[in-house]
Amino acid sequence: MYAAIEAGGTKFVCAVSDHQLNIVEKIRIATTDPQQTLRRVFAFLDQYDIEAIGVGAFGPLDLDNQSSHYGYITTTPKAGWQEFNFLGVLKGHFEDIPIIFTTDVNIAAVGEQRLGAGRGAQNVAYYTVGTGIGMGFLYHGALYDGRGNLEAGHILVRRSNEDKFAGVCPYHRDCLEGMASGPAMESRWGLKGANIPTDSFAWRLEANYLAQACMITTLSLSPDIIIFGGGVSNRSELFPLIRSEFSKILGGYVTTPNLAHYIVHAALGNDAGIVGGLLLAKDAAVKVSTSALAPD
Ligand code: ADP
Ligand code: ZN
Repeated sequence: MYAAIEAGGTKFVCAVSDHQLNIVEKIRIATTDPQQTLRRVFAFLDQYDIEAIGVGAFGPLDLDNQSSHYGYITTTPKAGWQEFNFLGVLKGHFEDIPIIFTTDVNIAAVGEQRLGAGRGAQNVAYYTVGTGIGMGFLYHGALYDGRGNLEAGHILVRRSNEDKFAGVCPYHRDCLEGMASGPAMESRWGLKGANIPTDSFAWRLEANYLAQACMITTLSLSPDIIIFGGGVSNRSELFPLIRSEFSKILGGYVTTPNLAHYIVHAALGNDAGIVGGLLLAKDAAVKVSTSALAPD
């Protein structure tokens, strides 16, 4: 059986599947301190005969496999989790079971690329726009891990003339996350995103900031597709606005695929991360079994 762990700052979602990736059981665990949270994760997974595990974790993470802190959650403000050796504790418990360890957005990117909106694309940028903004990237279908998480959620954006909002990022104030996350919308307009009317100027402004993210992503990574997930992206009216803003600011400087297929909404919704984690677990298990069969 395969397992996936989507380790978020608010909740952990864990799932176990059969070889066809049919989910046998899935649970949610509130994220408390690392010891208690992982005790509950282990109690769940230990009921099954697990062959491999795909893990996507909140960060910042150390993903430099040459680093002494590889697999640690590093400078998070979340109490108890600073400099926590997450991968080390998982490896200590699961011993010889292969573990693929990456960011929460990367596992969602894998789910979307293999079974969701990114099918057929090789180089995939996946943004989540929710409580925070994060980006994952797949290079020719494989996880791209830098030394740490990609932090494109904190790129600087050009402030719209009509926007006087200071921004909510505690580090940069008016970076992308500071201006366009769910909490930024709520703080700017005094309404939860879900309650902002469809025809509000708020969506044009939001689309402008997300279009700037698409422009920087296009110019620096030239992906095949840019997929948006997360709570704010559930507003389908955003997508035509992002595409038209993007086209306006890019000014025809580079060519892109047809924008209707280039800037798209995630197809797997909240399941993308778990599906991606299970796919990564399957890859790892198949790799182990084929190398065991290979002649010396
Ligand atoms: P998280 O990022 O915490 O994993 P979500 O991706 O669900 O969770 O994002 C939550 C944020 O998205 C909240 O700020 C919420 O107000 C906002 N949000 C959720 N649904 C909508 C919606 N339909 N329209 C606009 N904003 C929404
Ligand atoms: Zn920031």
